[in-house]
Formats: sequence, C-alpha cells, structure tokens
Amino acid sequence: MPNLTEVNLDERFRNLLDIAPDPILEVDAEGRIVLANKEAEKLFGWTRDELAGQPIEMLLPERFRTRHVIHRSHYSVRPKTRPMGTGLELFALRKDGTECAIDINLSPVSAANGRVMCIIRDVSERKHIEEQIQLLNQNLERRTEELATVNQQLELRNLEVERANVLKTEFLASVSHELRTPLHAIIGFSELLAEESAGGLNPKQKRFTSHIYQGAQHLLELINDILDLSKIEAGHLELRQEWFSAASAVAEVLSSIRPLANQKGIALSAGIQPELSIFADRIRLKEILFNLFSNAVKFTREGGRITVRSTVLPDHIRISVADTGIGIAAGEHESIFQTFRQVASTTKGVREGTGLGLAITKRLVEQHGGHIWVESELGAGSEFFFTIPQGAAGEEPPLEPAVVLVVEDDESSRELVVSYLESEGLKSLTAGSGDEGLRVARDSHPDVIILDLLMPGRSGWETLYKLRSSPATAGIPIIITSVIDEKKMAFSLGATDYLVKPVAKETLLDAIRRAKRLGVT
Ligand code: ADP
Repeated sequence: MPNLTEVNLDERFRNLLDIAPDPILEVDAEGRIVLANKEAEKLFGWTRDELAGQPIEMLLPERFRTRHVIHRSHYSVRPKTRPMGTGLELFALRKDGTECAIDINLSPVSAANGRVMCIIRDVSERKHIEEQIQLLNQNLERRTEELATVNQQLELRNLEVERANVLKTEFLASVSHELRTPLHAIIGFSELLAEESAGGLNPKQKRFTSHIYQGAQHLLELINDILDLSKIEAGHLELRQEWFSAASAVAEVLSSIRPLANQKGIALSAGIQPELSIFADRIRLKEILFNLFSNAVKFTREGGRITVRSTVLPDHIRISVADTGIGIAAGEHESIFQTFRQVASTTKGVREGTGLGLAITKRLVEQHGGHIWVESELGAGSEFFFTIPQGAAGEEPPLEPAVVLVVEDDESSRELVVSYLESEGLKSLTAGSGDEGLRVARDSHPDVIILDLLMPGRSGWETLYKLRSSPATAGIPIIITSVIDEKKMAFSLGATDYLVKPVAKETLLDAIRRAKRLGVT
C-alpha cells in the first residue's frame, strides 16, 4: 500500500495540475489567485509567483473588470450545490497586453472557504472559425440575394427580347413591303429598257441595264426570303394541309426547274409512285422541293444528273433529291441549314442565292412535323432527304377516281361491293369467275383488283398466281376477300392485302386507299 502522506498528496496533486492540458487557476473567496498550473503560465505569460495573490481581474481586459467583480461577488451567495459558471465565454488579457477568447469552467473547491477552481480553455481558434463561418454565411446570403436580383433582371431581359423579336418581325415585314414597291419599278423599267421599247441602247448600256435588272432580282429574292423566314419564326405561317398526289406536285416543280437544268445539260429523273398521296400544304411542299432542286442545279456541273425519289414508310413518307454535284464536306452538313450560311461557290464560281433557302426549307419541313438532313461527300454529290409524317393526317385521303375490278362468283356479294365502290365515285368492273377476271384485268388494266378465293372452276389461288405472273397485270394491287383466313399463303403469292369476309364498307375503302398508295408500279 503506498503511503499517502499529505506531502505526497500535495506533490502528486501539483504534478497532476501541471500535466493537465488546460490552464487551471484557483481563486480564493476574495478573488485572489492562489494557484496556477503550467498551462496557465503559458497562456497568460505571467509566472506563478507573479500571479500568486493577485486579483483574478488582472487577467481580464479593463472593460470587463468592474462587471466581473460584481459577478464574482454573487458566487459567495450562490447555493454551493449548484454548478457555477459552466462554459462562460470571456476574454483574457495576457501579460504582453494581447487578448484572447477563452471558455471557463468554474467549480467550488471547498464549501468552507469559498475557493473556486477555474479551468480555462483558449477558444480563439474556435472563435476565429466561427467568425469565418458566420462571414461565409453572410456572404452566401448576400450571393443568394444577388442571384435573385439577377434572375429577376434576366426574366425582364427575356421579356424584352421577346418583345424585341416581335418588333423585329413586324419591322422586317413592313420594311420588306416598302422595299418591294420601288424594286418592282426598278425591275420593270430595266426590263423595258432592255427591250429597247423606249429607244435603242448601245452594247455597254445594254450590259449596265442587265446588271441593274439582275441586282434588283437578287434583292427581291432576298426580301422575299427574309419575309418568309420572319413569318415562319413569328409563327405566322399557317399550313393549309390537304391530300394531294406527290407525283403531280413533283412534276409541277420539275417543269419550272427544267429550263435551268436544260441550260446546263443536267438530266432530271423522278421516281415517285404515281399513286402516292401526301397530306401536306401543297404550296409549301412545292417550295421545299423547289429549294432543293434549284440548289441541286446550282451546285451540279454540266452533264450531271438530279434524281428525286420517294419511299413509303409505316408512318411517314420520305422524299429525297440527289445530285451528282460538288458535294458538301461532312463538317458542314448541319451548318448549311443555318441562316446566311453559304459554304461553296456555285459551279459558275460565284455565290448565288441568299443563304436562306435551306434555313426556310428546314423550318417548313419541321412545321409539317418532319425532319430534313443531307448525306454528302465533297466531290461526290449530295442527297437531301426530308420526311412528312402521315400519322397525324387525321383523315384519310379521298379516293381519287379509280377503276376497281371485282372478281367474285356470288352475285349478291358482287353487287354489295360494287355499291360500296360506286358510293365513293369509283368505277367498277366485274367478273364472275377467275378466267373472266384474268381476261378483264388484261384488257382493261384496272387500278385495283378485289379477288374472292373460293370460286368454282379456276380457283382464286390460281387466278392470283396467274395475275402476278403475267407482265400485263403483275403491277396491279390485289386485295383478297375470303371467308377463309389464309393470309400467309396469299401474301406469299403476291397479294397486296387480305380481308376476311364479311368486310365492312370502310375497311374495304381503306384497303383500296392503301393498295393505291403502296401499289406496285
Ligand atoms: P443559297 O441561297 O446560298 O443556296 P441555301 O441555304 O439554299 O442558300 O444553301 C446553303 C449552302 O449549302 C449553299 O450556299 C451551299 O454551300 C450548300 N448547298 C446547298 N445545297 C447544295 C447542293 N445540292 N450541293 C452542294 N452544296 C449545297
């Protein structure tokens, strides 16, 4: 058993105090320092001897001293069982006059003599961090406020931009109209001058007149394009969609482009199914085609070829215009659809056009719900593709006048089908047997054939086979109507569609529409 004498205890207590990580002071009932450990010496910069017997207030900055004395006087009357001043935050004054933030823990050492043990913690670092956090928080609040203001300003700016856009469109529209009137005068009078109706011109004057005319034409083209584009961008362009024949629209555009193509010896060819119906704004579709064709002519050398093709896909129609011209580098495939983007000189070596054609074309295609893109390589020609969706058409195309051959042995069934056809203004031919059907088909070449399968004599199967294998009838769409369901067999023999009897009128008419559109030609 160790001998715990007073001396030993005192020494061990002193050692304990000195290895404590925090500064510790003991103060008597009068507030005089009676004990200080090493950490306390380090913190305050005074030695123990200097501190001994001094009032505790010497370790406080001047401004707290009076208040502290009053505060301390309450300790003596405080019930001794309650904890004293735990976690008090104060400022300490060092010997060198500097201050630091401290946190103190007070506890009575002895109830009898009123001595108080005071454990001190230097919290200047923590205080500093707290202040920084507070500063950061304030900064953050300020930033948030600033952001809110910027957001508000942005919203206002957006509104202004929108308004400015509307104004710009209106301005462009009115300027374009104003410019057009004098331009028409310039074009008209330069034309008259060139005709020499008002007197003869020498060759130089003729050349100058031609420059005036061409310059004015170019300006007119530009104004028309700008007006078009501003109308589309302002959402003022309304599409008048209707069903029409794609082939006829293409033919009209081709006939207006042909003189230009002929001049350069460029061959034009069209591979559009004659039966193809399309639901679009006819005028705008022609504009799209015209822009693509005129570019193709511009950028194709003498003796080249331009081909237009159509493909029917499940929910849209794809039309393409291919040329054997100068081609477009891969990096420009997107940018050529931007306004005023002209990549190449034309084959004449000059920049022709306004640089707005493809931008307008793209917007027109997109307003129809379609897409436009180009596949091309420099020097290897270009193919522009665009799609027109058919799903959103809403209504079916009206049936254009067509001749339908009904091959059916049952007289009443035949009559019923004929009455359906006639109610839609379609012309019908009839045959009561397979042989008769073959003969009529060969002689009259109907647009569509409706064929029953189960007939006496030559069966519908055999008739279908013969129709498909004879060159005269191979291209005519054939709709099978039958009480039996043998679609697989019928399609493998070349049937276009297969309807199981009884067939409702609308179902039959739909099938005829589809057959005409998909018709093998
Ligand atoms: P532009 O009025 O100049 O023809 P577009 O917008 O119609 O304006 O065309 C933009 C540019 O795209 C043209 O200047 C040309 O560089 C390129 N481009 C368009 N079509 C073709 C084409 N068929 N072959 C090669 N380049 C083409």
